Amino acid sequence: MTEEDVPIWIATEVHYWIDIFSLATWNVTIALDRVVLDNPNCLGWCQRNASYNHAVLHFRDDIEDTPKWRKVILHECLHILMARVDAYVQDAMQPQLAESSQDFAGMVYTQHTESFVQMLTAAFWRYYVERVGIEHGRS
Ligand SMILES: [Zn+2]
Repeated sequence: MTEEDVPIWIATEVHYWIDIFSLATWNVTIALDRVVLDNPNCLGWCQRNASYNHAVLHFRDDIEDTPKWRKVILHECLHILMARVDAYVQDAMQPQLAESSQDFAGMVYTQHTESFVQMLTAAFWRYYVERVGIEHGRS
């Protein structure tokens, strides 16, 4: 699927969060995949290159305009926000560890990051939907 085939509401939602997070210097593209990361249960994935400010947001192609899927979009946009921190840990810190510890440290870091991003997703969702009272992408 090419980006031209991406429904407008998805692009609008992505750009809404890109703006909120001040990520305008990033080149972000959207891809809809039949299966994401070879996992039929995976809804989305943020492929990032912090050195080049480039990200590809992958979503499973059965994505629909529902709160559940909008939270997935928010979640993946937060991973762009985390890209430099993640790259620093993975490229600069992790190699400083003993080789036998690097995989374990990376796995633990990823688990903590995922949990943190999930908490931020819930917080932003509550704030913007419940407090600000807007529907995402439609102010
Ligand atoms: Zn995630």
